[in-house]
Amino acid sequence: MRDENCIFCRIANGEIPSATVYEDEWFRVILDMGPASKGHALILPKEHFKDVCDLDEVYASKVLLLGGRIGSAMKKTLGCTGFNLVQNNGESAGQTVFHFHLHVIPRYEDGEVMVAWRPGHAEAEELKEIAKQIKAGL
Ligand code: AMP
Ligand code: ZN
Repeated sequence: MRDENCIFCRIANGEIPSATVYEDEWFRVILDMGPASKGHALILPKEHFKDVCDLDEVYASKVLLLGGRIGSAMKKTLGCTGFNLVQNNGESAGQTVFHFHLHVIPRYEDGEVMVAWRPGHAEAEELKEIAKQIKAGL
């Protein structure tokens, strides 16, 4: 289902013009208007899903393969040597547009460090306890 008030629904379905990299029956891939690096793209489903928890099986089964395909094309054409697939869910995770999208961010040698965290420390007992908590929600 599409949501007429959602900007990504409108872009994905071609109602608002965009720099389109790829389009098929399910997705439109566009360039991000605030790129983290040259070629930063967004994979947008043509149907409205607010985040990854909302995706259906058809879209979920296709989106990662498409991410790999777009990333490979970037390596061939843009000179990047790697790429990050990033996907934010919820405001606290940095999601600003509440229509599922997968970022494909090309990474260049000597490029800025992105999508990184400082490894913390946890005792084995603590990890066991946290794993138990998460399992209870599955
Ligand atoms: P997120 O923070 O994961 O929700 O990512 C939203 C992304 O969408 C940001 O990187 C924005 O720069 C990008 N964005 C928002 N509006 C547009 C638009 N109209 N066209 C292209 N990119 C957009
Ligand atoms: Zn939408």
